Amino acid sequence: MEHSAFEFDKWFKGNLHCHSTVSDGRLDPRSVAGLYRGSGWDFLAFTEHEIYTDLEEFNDESFLVLPGIEIGMGVPGHVDRCHHIVGIHRSFDSMLESKHMESFSHEDDFQGSIDRLLDADYMAVYCHPVWSRAQFQDVAELDGFFAIEIFNNGCVLESHTGLGAAYWDYLLRQGRIVWGVATDDAHHILPDTCGGWVMVNASSLTRADITKALYEGRFYSSTGPEIYAFEIQGDKCLVSCSPVESIHFVSYERRGRSYHAFPGRQLSSAVHKLHGDEVYVRVECVDRYGRTAWSNPIFLGK
Ligand SMILES: [Zn+2]
Ligand SMILES: [Zn+2]
Repeated sequence: MEHSAFEFDKWFKGNLHCHSTVSDGRLDPRSVAGLYRGSGWDFLAFTEHEIYTDLEEFNDESFLVLPGIEIGMGVPGHVDRCHHIVGIHRSFDSMLESKHMESFSHEDDFQGSIDRLLDADYMAVYCHPVWSRAQFQDVAELDGFFAIEIFNNGCVLESHTGLGAAYWDYLLRQGRIVWGVATDDAHHILPDTCGGWVMVNASSLTRADITKALYEGRFYSSTGPEIYAFEIQGDKCLVSCSPVESIHFVSYERRGRSYHAFPGRQLSSAVHKLHGDEVYVRVECVDRYGRTAWSNPIFLGK
């Protein structure tokens, strides 16, 4: 079996979740775009609460703004639980224009609202499940989102509720094909910019190429380390990355394996022998500061 997660030699760094003064963020959109551009980010999605925006006036050949929105709703019968979804316009397979500065009208149930987003040619990311107090089953009952936030910097900084990989594995173990994303959810009230990002393997910095690569899972997420390669060759799963202390292969139903550097040393690659009956395998690379890079899963099938 041969499978490589990446096919292009170009990488683009981006944040898929942030707010400005258009909703409840502290900085105006121009300042937010300038902050990310100045920090080396290639693209950014503005995801204002219940408001579509398409700030293409900030686009040029080296920086791209994706049209976005965030929508939220309580979980019926549970006042403590809610769902939030970020929508990113699917610019790769549609001629439909994204909607500019138009508010979102909810359906009676949250699945209906997700479907409305998909009908408007947006692709959905399930946000910050721990912050939302969503139960695993609350998330699993929803359909149609292509990715789930496994790291949300704003939630980490606000209340240590931003890590969601357990929800991701819960979905993956049921055979769901869903990618994991690290985002900022920046409101610029806390120091929440540039803490979690996606590195997208795409042929060019255009809306079509970036959103297609995202949709197909050709990216990894990170709060620091880099992943250079993640692939399967025969019965082996290989990863190469920037120097880290630990590399974890996470799989199901087989348990995977963790590899650790001895004190004073670091790892920049690992090879894990597969049994061949794993449903999926993904990798997490953790550096000495606890910063993590998450690959997307490779699905092996049966
Ligand atoms: Zn939210
Ligand atoms: Zn948000």
